[in-house]
Amino acid sequence: MIWNPSKECMPEEQKRELQGKRLHKVVDYVYHNVLFYRTKMQELGLEPGDIRTIDDIVKLPFTTKQDLRDNYPFGLQAAPQSEIIRIHASTGTTGNPTIVGYTRKDIDIWSECMSRCLTAYGVRRSDIFSVAYGYGLFTGGLGVHYGVENLGATVVPASTGGTQKHAKLLKDLGITGLACTPSYALHLAEVVEKSGIGKDELKLRVGAFGAEPWTESMRQEIESRLGLKGYNIYGLSEIMGPCVSYECECQHGSHINEDHFYPEIIDPQTLRPIPAGEDGELVFTTLTKTGMPVLRYRTRDLCSLLPGDCPCGRTFVRMSSIKGRTDDMLIIRGINVFPSQVESVLLGIPECAPYYRLIVDRVNNLDTLTVQVEARAEYLSRDMDTLSPIAALEKKVAARLRDVLSISSAVQIKMPGSLERFEGKAKIVTDNRKLI
Ligand code: ADP
Ligand code: ZN
Repeated sequence: MIWNPSKECMPEEQKRELQGKRLHKVVDYVYHNVLFYRTKMQELGLEPGDIRTIDDIVKLPFTTKQDLRDNYPFGLQAAPQSEIIRIHASTGTTGNPTIVGYTRKDIDIWSECMSRCLTAYGVRRSDIFSVAYGYGLFTGGLGVHYGVENLGATVVPASTGGTQKHAKLLKDLGITGLACTPSYALHLAEVVEKSGIGKDELKLRVGAFGAEPWTESMRQEIESRLGLKGYNIYGLSEIMGPCVSYECECQHGSHINEDHFYPEIIDPQTLRPIPAGEDGELVFTTLTKTGMPVLRYRTRDLCSLLPGDCPCGRTFVRMSSIKGRTDDMLIIRGINVFPSQVESVLLGIPECAPYYRLIVDRVNNLDTLTVQVEARAEYLSRDMDTLSPIAALEKKVAARLRDVLSISSAVQIKMPGSLERFEGKAKIVTDNRKLI
């Protein structure tokens, strides 16, 4: 089922025409309402009249996270305060949070986009859907919440924390849908298992997971432990929040709500466009936002736009999964390392549990990478009486990591349950080099 086929399945030409019209409108709007954009455009000798079709987008200036910080808190807001009905902030994963104000129209569009996404996952009005993203300034909780209500399913605003209670509710209420970060889903699975609740006692069938990068192996792990089908949901507060893009039943990339958010992929160094299918930095322009529209916002997320049509019938372009962020890429001894690469290796080793940490340091001017990973309880109970299996496992993990990362790392196998669990976005990496 498709929530809004007239938009989601729009013929390409019609879509581009709509995008062009909307782009012109938003450029005109920010030119007249946001000093920052007017100044930037004037510096480039641009006027709103120069932007007529979607192809004209390349003439426009980029907006960066730093621009948002420089204009903290309300400098980029285009609507008067009396039109703003809600404020959110980015998590601040990579520094100071940025503030985003939403008008009523923005909130309505957000709910529409969320409903498209939930419908693609197979969520229906009869579903009981639990939202275990944090409620508050973070966009995850309220964003998904309003989408579930707009669709007409029952929302359970579980939020994060109270995991024990949440596990009980899953069973008692017969909750069928769940939205949270992939790391919280694993934590919840663990708490469910420890509470003695069997998978067959749960009615869960759909999961909307996102807000942090996750891999296919992580998906399989969550699906088998919670007995549901896990779908990707992507978004960021600067653009809207969750549901900027969403997976369909084909699960080959996530469709971008292109009538509202226009994507580009650029080379983060040269800022030139990158052809479809190749990885680069994802850039978004909001086409309909009125609270805080952004032009060519550099997300710092690395991914590609997938060429070709999707068998589901939606014509919205698909983006690949996020490979990492330009700012979470670690350069270790000159080699680029993404935490997601480490995750894929670890989850491909049956003795390793999906709980791990990366610690980067500099010893005698040489970068070091330490990977801590928990062993699975089943594996340890088999070989409890001897320590040598742990040493053997450490060797095996180190060898696999070296093959994939092209650098060597020190591996430490940890006892099950010993690494901290996360309720919101996981903090996997500690880079001690910055402190030197
Ligand atoms: P931040 O974490 O940058 O402070 P947000 O809370 O708005 O701000 O989070 C947005 C970021 O979260 C995205 O830019 C992206 O890096 C990450 N993210 C969101 N959804 C996904 C997803 N499905 N897969 C990978 N990364 C995601
Ligand atoms: Zn599709």
